[in-house]
Amino acid sequence: MHSALKTYFGFSEFKGLQEAVIKSILAKESTFVIMPTGGGKSLCYQLPALMQEGTAIVVSPLIALMKNQVDAIRGVSDEHGVAHVLNSSLNKTEVKQVKQDITNGITKLLYVAPESLTKEENVEFLRSVKISFMAVDEAHCISEWGHDFRPEYRNLKQIIERIGDNIPIIGLTATATPKVQEDILKNLGMSNARTFKASFNRPNLYYEIRPKTKNVDADIIRFVKQNEGKTGIIYCLSRKRVEELAQVLQVNGVKALPYHAGLDAKTRVKHQDMFLMEDIDVVVATIAFGMGIDKPDVRFVIHHDIPKSIESYYQETGRAGRDGGEGHCLAFYSYKDIEKLEKFMSGKPVAEQEIGQALLQEVVAFAETSISRRKFILHYFGEEFDNETGEGGDLDDNMRYPKKQHEAQDNVKL
Ligand code: ADP
Ligand code: MG
Repeated sequence: MHSALKTYFGFSEFKGLQEAVIKSILAKESTFVIMPTGGGKSLCYQLPALMQEGTAIVVSPLIALMKNQVDAIRGVSDEHGVAHVLNSSLNKTEVKQVKQDITNGITKLLYVAPESLTKEENVEFLRSVKISFMAVDEAHCISEWGHDFRPEYRNLKQIIERIGDNIPIIGLTATATPKVQEDILKNLGMSNARTFKASFNRPNLYYEIRPKTKNVDADIIRFVKQNEGKTGIIYCLSRKRVEELAQVLQVNGVKALPYHAGLDAKTRVKHQDMFLMEDIDVVVATIAFGMGIDKPDVRFVIHHDIPKSIESYYQETGRAGRDGGEGHCLAFYSYKDIEKLEKFMSGKPVAEQEIGQALLQEVVAFAETSISRRKFILHYFGEEFDNETGEGGDLDDNMRYPKKQHEAQDNVKL
C-alpha cells in the first residue's frame, strides 16, 4: 500500500485515517468515511481502485469536480484510459472508447453523475463488466438534512443492486451531523458499514461572535485595520451588501474586492486570482466564494451576516488557517438577521421550512451560548470535546472573556 501511495501519488505517508479506510475497502467491506473538507477523502477510494482488478464506479454530484479528479488521476498513470467520466456530454465515439477501456480492464475509476447512472443502457453495460466497488462521494446529497440535497441520490442503492450482487459500497462525506449520517447509512442500505470518522476539531481557529449593531461596518473596518497585511474573507448574505462593503473598505484604504455570482465570469476569475496572488488582502463575498479555493494562509473569516446553519458556518470558517497558523473567525449576530433568514424560507415547501427552522435554531443557540464554542460545534457534529484538555479548548470568546460575553448576549436579546 505504501509503495502504491508513493508510485501513484508521490506521498510517503497516509493522512489521518486513510490507511485504515483503504484496508477496509481492499477487504471488500462496505465503508463509511466522514472527514472534514481537505481531509483527503478522494485518495481513500482512488488508491484501492488503482490497486484492484475491475473498475470502481465513483458517483459525484458535480461535473467540474469529476473532470478535475480525472485529470489528476490521468497525471499519475501512463494510461490515459485509467480514469474516465461517463456523462451526457460525451459523443457516441467517446462513449464507445470509454466502454472499450472498461471492458479491457484499463479503466480503474469511472466517474458518473447519478443521473447518468440511472440510464438503462449504462446500467445494462455496467452489469456486464467487473466492478471493484462503488464509491458515493459527497454522500450527504442523499439527505434532506444535508446542505446539498439531490433527489437522484436517493435511487443509488437500487441501481447498485441492479449492477451487481454484493458490490461493496463506500460512502464519503464531510457532513458530520448524526442525522445526515443516519440518512446516508439507511439510504445506501449499509447499516453494517465500517465507519471511519475523523475529528472535526480545528484547534488553531479562534471563534468569536459579536453583537451586530448599526455600526457593524465600522467594527469590520477596525478589525481589518488591526489586522493589516493579513489575508481574509468577509461573507455577506446579499450581493448588494457585498458591493457596498467592498466599497466602504476601499474608501478606507483597504485592498478589497467583491465576489458574487452576479459578477460576470471574467471579473470573478480576476478577483479570485488577485486574492490568491495577494494583490488584494480582503475579498468580500457571498457564499459563491470558497468552494475549491485552497489558500492556506487566510488569517480571518468574518461573517457580516450569520449563516443559515452550523454546517455552513463550519465550512466557511474552515477556510481560515488551513496552514495550521492563526485563524480568527468573527461573526456578527443579531436576531433580526435570523428573522430575515426565516423570511427567505417562507416561500419554500413546508418540509423544507421545518428543516430550515431547526437548523436556524441551532445557529441561534450557538450565537447565544456561553459555553465553549468549539465544544458546541463539535457536539453538533456528534463529537465529545473537553475544552479543559482538548486542543484549542481556550480559543474562543466565551473561554477567554466569559463576562463580556454575557453582556453581549443581553444586548442582542433586547
Ligand atoms: P476532501 O475530498 O476530503 O475534501 P481531497 O481528497 O480533495 O480532500 O484532498 C485534499 C488534499 O489533500 C489534496 O490536495 C490531496 O492531494 C491532499 N492529500 C491527500 N492525501 C494525502 C497524503 N496522504 N499526503 C499528502 N497530501 C495528501
Ligand atoms: Mg472531496
